[in-house]
Amino acid sequence: LPEQEAFDIEYWLLEEAKLQRMPKPKSLAGRIALVTGGAGGIGSATADRMLREGACVLLADIDAEALDRTAQNLSGRHGRDVVRTVSMNVTKEEEVIAALAHAAAEFGGIDILVSNAGIASSAPVEQTTLELWNRNMDILSTGYFLVSRETFKVLRAQGMGGSVIFVASKNGLAASPNASAYCTAKAAEIHLARCLALEGAEAGIRVNVVNPDAVLRGSKIWSGEWLDQRASTYKTDKEGLEEMYRQRSMLKRSVFPEDIAEGVYFFASDLSSKSTGNILNVDAGNVQAFTR
Ligand code: NAD
Repeated sequence: LPEQEAFDIEYWLLEEAKLQRMPKPKSLAGRIALVTGGAGGIGSATADRMLREGACVLLADIDAEALDRTAQNLSGRHGRDVVRTVSMNVTKEEEVIAALAHAAAEFGGIDILVSNAGIASSAPVEQTTLELWNRNMDILSTGYFLVSRETFKVLRAQGMGGSVIFVASKNGLAASPNASAYCTAKAAEIHLARCLALEGAEAGIRVNVVNPDAVLRGSKIWSGEWLDQRASTYKTDKEGLEEMYRQRSMLKRSVFPEDIAEGVYFFASDLSSKSTGNILNVDAGNVQAFTR
């Protein structure tokens, strides 16, 4: 090579190497996220994922003790300044309004909502009491509506768009035995997301859905009454259920809270800036497989 050209190449390679060494800008730096059900398995994994990308996170949950534990854990990993908590029952209108005001007071606003607080509780239809039916509707459908409505008000007032993500369920798309109340409430969440995507689009507010398949590890849902119901429906135990879900999926793999967190992160970030009203099934290919 001519001497000048060789020098140019060497110079360029050195500059490139320097760039590689420089820390990459974090994709959610400066963004503020509210995560409902933030003390749970999927909520805390999601918060952790967004904190790693530089977001500030307000964890909201009805379970104050678990909330403190989760906040301590995440603050230890990411710093105290970026994690805050608020106690909130998503079915109580006044608590939801207060929590959104809290987000403004703590961090100065909100850019991302992860609506995730939930339960799983069901029974065969003949044994589904009105109380059981209403509990599913209240926490899942109505809770998602209330938190979204209040978040929309803040996002519109800020005038900078935003991203709303619903953690729904594959059961909102596909029927599951003896779980009509849960499945119907999850289906309502998904349709609410579509409607809100349409309403928010002009203001740059995107609304998308992540549907987990069964996440047995790390989720509190799978240590209580839901586990007993599923185990009795499928006549097996927790390990048997885990294996059953794995075998049903196309990829023959289990799904973990961290997998759901990746899906949520995608919709929270600008990677998905052209996506709204969309559904991402994080299910190892379960919903689309006919393997029963
Ligand atoms: P989890 O029980 O570990 O977490 C749920 C959190 O929501 C808990 O911390 C709980 O205290 C909180 N919560 C419950 N009711 C509330 C209320 N009224 N107000 C505020 N907070 C409330 O369960 P998870 O697996 O992390 O579930 C998160 C979401 O994912 C839920 O909406 C659930 O339906 C959905 N989901 C879970 C699975 C699964 O298999 N784990 C599958 C599909 C969908």
